[in-house]
Amino acid sequence: MKNCLFCKISNGDVPGDKVYEDDSVFAFNDINPQAPTHILICPKKHLSTIMDMESGDEAMIGSIVSVANQIAAEKGLEKSGFRLVLNCGSGAGQSVFHVHFHLLAGRPMQWPPG
Ligand code: 5GP
Repeated sequence: MKNCLFCKISNGDVPGDKVYEDDSVFAFNDINPQAPTHILICPKKHLSTIMDMESGDEAMIGSIVSVANQIAAEKGLEKSGFRLVLNCGSGAGQSVFHVHFHLLAGRPMQWPPG
């Protein structure tokens, strides 16, 4: 999508510190990390929120979880654990309207999140 920041990072129009990319998913370091590891994992297909998911998108969204596992394994996070967060809608804290999962790790996590 033309005016979407994360689409621009996906296609290279805006620089992003990418840590993973395949045909349907890309991941990059968050510009304002909230934990020692804070990576955003996104579908390349533009979906503003997860509520815009269509029939046929399930595998693409599922592969994001596989990518999270892969990144966690590469970073040796299996033992310490990690948090995978998706904010849906501004009321839930979403500020960039291109679906992304936050992979957070490297510090103690509180529950419930604020
Ligand atoms: P949300 O609030 O939508 O769940 O998360 C958006 C995330 O995108 C935030 O954690 C924010 O720091 C990150 N972010 C916003 N703009 C940029 C940017 O230009 N580059 C990168 N790498 N992250 C960004």
